[in-house]
Amino acid sequence: MFMDLFKLPVFMLDKIRTSIFTIDDIELYINGLVSSIECQDFYHGIILDKIRNGTLASYNYNTYKIRIFYEMMKTQGRLDAKYLNRDDYILVTNVLILHSIIHEVVHVFQNYCYHNNDYPFLEIMFRQLQFSEDCDDDIYNYYYSYFTFERDADTIALENILIILRYLIKDAGLFIHYLDILKLRIIRGYQIRNEVFSSPLETIYNDLFKEECPEVHIEDPYTSLKLGLMISKRQYNIFKANYKSIIIEKNNLQI
Ligand SMILES: [Zn+2]
Repeated sequence: MFMDLFKLPVFMLDKIRTSIFTIDDIELYINGLVSSIECQDFYHGIILDKIRNGTLASYNYNTYKIRIFYEMMKTQGRLDAKYLNRDDYILVTNVLILHSIIHEVVHVFQNYCYHNNDYPFLEIMFRQLQFSEDCDDDIYNYYYSYFTFERDADTIALENILIILRYLIKDAGLFIHYLDILKLRIIRGYQIRNEVFSSPLETIYNDLFKEECPEVHIEDPYTSLKLGLMISKRQYNIFKANYKSIIIEKNNLQI
């Protein structure tokens, strides 16, 4: 449902290979996305910010503002293009910009849902969110990929990037690259602890809350993995071995 809403406007598609999106483009895009999901009440504009370690954008659940580290986005785009051995850093950078913006707009959507009481695992997500707002930066960075709300935002953003790459940009190389990123984000945080296979959610409860992890179970293993919920080691291994076909099937990305 949510995914279908992310369409790339024509004005952005037209320039995606020829010029780096400007701040105005980014603002227009966010406005369009936010109004298409009717979350205007939870988005109060952008703030431009200077380079900060590794962060490209962030959303503040209290002020409703999206902070954009524009220079950092451009730097990261160049680095990614170099890493991927591609000479079209403009396209690589623009896709990176789209990824981080969609990620932040998912946070806007989560916040809207939180206030309207309509989202799966709201309690679990917002307990972690409150914790993350008060905790040390190092702790936040360490547990970033364990937090349910971050996994939710990033996997939805990446799924949307895959749709854009497959159907609008039609770039097979970047498609495979983002497919691999999505796989890595999904499997991250699952580990063997004390000889027991454990989920990111369990790690959050054990390490940060010092409590027993609540039993949350959903039928679909793919969704469980995306959110970092408990899943059997067998299901986890099935995903790892077949991630390409599973992600493609779950997101209707067949050609
Ligand atoms: Zn985030």
